[in-house]
Amino acid sequence: MSIPSNLPLRNDLAGEEPYGAPQLDVPVCLNVNENPYAPSEAVIDTILERVRAVAPTLNRYPDREHAELRKALAAYLRKESQVELEPEQIWAANGSNEIMLQVFQAFGGPGRTALGFAPTYSMYPEYARDTFTAWTTVPRNADFTLDVDAAVKAILETRPSIVLITSPNNPTGTPATMEQIEALLAACEKAGVDGAPEGTHPLLVVDEAYIEFRRPGKPSATTLIADHPNLAVSRTMSKAFAYAGARVGYIAANTGVIDSLRIVRMPYHLSAVTQAVALAALDHTDEQLAQVGHLRDTRDALVDWFRQQTYKGQPIQVADTDSNFVFFGVFDDREWIFNELLNRGVLIRDVGPEGWLRVCMGTDEEMEAFKSAFLEVIRLAE
Ligand code: PMP
Repeated sequence: MSIPSNLPLRNDLAGEEPYGAPQLDVPVCLNVNENPYAPSEAVIDTILERVRAVAPTLNRYPDREHAELRKALAAYLRKESQVELEPEQIWAANGSNEIMLQVFQAFGGPGRTALGFAPTYSMYPEYARDTFTAWTTVPRNADFTLDVDAAVKAILETRPSIVLITSPNNPTGTPATMEQIEALLAACEKAGVDGAPEGTHPLLVVDEAYIEFRRPGKPSATTLIADHPNLAVSRTMSKAFAYAGARVGYIAANTGVIDSLRIVRMPYHLSAVTQAVALAALDHTDEQLAQVGHLRDTRDALVDWFRQQTYKGQPIQVADTDSNFVFFGVFDDREWIFNELLNRGVLIRDVGPEGWLRVCMGTDEEMEAFKSAFLEVIRLAE
């Protein structure tokens, strides 16, 4: 980083670093919770057809309201989450990162507070910083589940404008139950909001970036939208949908929330090419999601495997996970483990509470490479 001191960078940004995990060229990359399976030839053909079809229109601005994409996402949610939503109840952007920034732009701001549950996704404080919103957290229980009593108390006392719950949580993988989400919703529906007129209630945002990896039969929070005007559920095509490079996220909520986001979005924020590429994947939903079941099995097998290992005579702890990654520890020097794995060509993530590490699910070969490198490293530590 080299920013000359005579540049008028915002005072609160002085000394800040751009966010992001290292992008290293190593054989086994298990660090950013991607899906390891590339789009199929059939999907690639449809991408090419759809992009070819919009190419002659690129002198014009794209459909600002991305109506066709919102309709296709509503159809996807009908199938994946058994929820009936109108296209007007869905809104897409360049990754759920952009969606969340729009949420903070519309509902945060000076004098407002956003509340989350730590440890959680490390981008949230950045959206808060960038929108001059205060960021505060309630600690999770020792097993990383939500401390509902503390959460409800904090909502009523802090009077935040945004309550942000990640389910499954990143970096821990912990799901929130529907009962927990409903308890938080009830608290939001009772609480007031500092910096907003009397009678205003906090918006509860459930970040479901990893929801497709949940255990079969579990519902999505999108099924609560019909009864809760102050609920929004953010999702992404980056993870289970195996489309991180396409940069498509979306949010489902009642139209009041969506119309609020429409106020702050950049005009034509979603390019015609992005819309075409997203629609191409949605033409092949089953294929794009084909590996989700296998990745779930890989995750469960890795959790079992970890639970049979020891580090310096102690069992390795693993957080319960409904996601495509596993959070494990506790190591006296996690950086050493991280670096020794990297020396063996395996990149994972050193994130979250001290002593814990996160690994995301790769192909079968990548998982074998991870496990054998990990065994070598912990034996070295004995
Ligand atoms: N939410 C959570 C919890 C995440 O872990 C991530 C990605 N790491 C995102 C949102 C952002 O995903 P994207 O912008 O790719 O949709």
